[in-house]
Amino acid sequence: MKKDSEILSVAISLDIDPDANCAVKGRYDALSSPVEQGGVRMDACKKGLLKIFELLDTYSLDATLFYEARTARELVNNGVRLQELSARHEVACHSLKHEDFLGVVSGLPMGDGVIVETVEKAKTILEKIFVREIKGFRSPYTRINRPVIKALEQLGFTYDSSETMPLGVEWQGKPFLMTAFDSNLLELALPSFKDSNGKKMTSYLWAIFEGKRVSLEYIDAVLWAREVAKGGLFIFSMHPWHLYTNYRGIPFSRERVMENIKNLDEVFSQLKQMQGINLIRQDQYLEDWLRREPVGIAKQ
Ligand SMILES: [Zn+2]
Repeated sequence: MKKDSEILSVAISLDIDPDANCAVKGRYDALSSPVEQGGVRMDACKKGLLKIFELLDTYSLDATLFYEARTARELVNNGVRLQELSARHEVACHSLKHEDFLGVVSGLPMGDGVIVETVEKAKTILEKIFVREIKGFRSPYTRINRPVIKALEQLGFTYDSSETMPLGVEWQGKPFLMTAFDSNLLELALPSFKDSNGKKMTSYLWAIFEGKRVSLEYIDAVLWAREVAKGGLFIFSMHPWHLYTNYRGIPFSRERVMENIKNLDEVFSQLKQMQGINLIRQDQYLEDWLRREPVGIAKQ
């Protein structure tokens, strides 16, 4: 049996946020598409999340759940037994109301103090709902800057998981310190890689649900990563709402939904059967890694 330091670890993560969410000009928080309607919907998120919990149970997989605090609260108010369903998974934070921290679309970059306040509020809400410590963070739109990273550090987070890095020669999926932002926070980055045609892809499964890729391409990526990222972590990510609605907020047909569920089932089933990988939650991977590697290893 190979040691963990010699095999690829694979994590499944969910960004649990409003249906087809979108940043909006002139406001910090996100709305559901089409934003002209001015609303926030969570029906598809709720259905998708319940379905994914079912699949995770079928394959006895433990995942990392990045909850937007607003969504978690709404689901609980809607009668979803979120605490119970999340019990064996890692609970992490995906902001308060899916803020556009950098102001890329809103045109309103958030100040250092407002960022701290917002993330603190989100963390407090999640800790109250789930009654446990929140260690991980993934930023909305996976966009971070120095104030966001500094806020996470100040609020006692252990790691961020928002960056996307090309997996391969330069980086083998290992955690690294956010020295680029003058911080000691650890980063568990998402991988990008090439498909068989040399086209760039990432580990977000959205392309499957939009009908642009098939599950086998993601399995091939893990088989490749198993060789080039020994001891590293390959993080999958997805949005629960994406099983039921497209990114414009248009509900998928029943057939399309069945297809999406089948594809996701296939990814989970293939991962479960794969030899020589270690399926693990992000927090547990990090804990193991900190135990065996000296901290202070910068981006490499
Ligand atoms: Zn999100």
